[in-house]
Amino acid sequence: MYLISSCLAGVRCRYDGSHNRVEEIVEFMKERPCITACPEVLGGLDTPRVPCEIVNAEGDKRVLARDGSDCTENFTEGARRTLELCRLNGVTKAVLKKRSPSCGFGLIYDGTFSGTVAEGSGFTAGLLYENGIKIYNEDNWKELLND
Ligand code: SF4
Repeated sequence: MYLISSCLAGVRCRYDGSHNRVEEIVEFMKERPCITACPEVLGGLDTPRVPCEIVNAEGDKRVLARDGSDCTENFTEGARRTLELCRLNGVTKAVLKKRSPSCGFGLIYDGTFSGTVAEGSGFTAGLLYENGIKIYNEDNWKELLND
């Protein structure tokens, strides 16, 4: 079973109320067992919402919205619920939106709201990885067919 970030499947769950639909991923979903999830929505955040980024990714990891509010609890809960969904559905591989403070893996926005990226992973991507789920993004997802 595969987990797909909801926004990659065309769900309008991004912070700005839009999506990141990738047609080839949607086609893939028609032929393979997949579930979708948006961790930020699962964590109780509204759509649209103020964009968030992770600050101090090396130490005490917090998630701040651009207006300064602290959304760390929402992101933590969203990650926990997404992992629970994966366990219930036997997910082994996930295609997650790159750079997101929830779904990004390996490289994420750096907390300055300037479009700059830095090493690190989003709350959900990191938790899924720690629990043995292989993570891909919208650029390298086809590799999952060979892994
Ligand atoms: Fe997409 Fe993930 Fe952001 Fe939800 S949390 S909008 S699924 S990148």
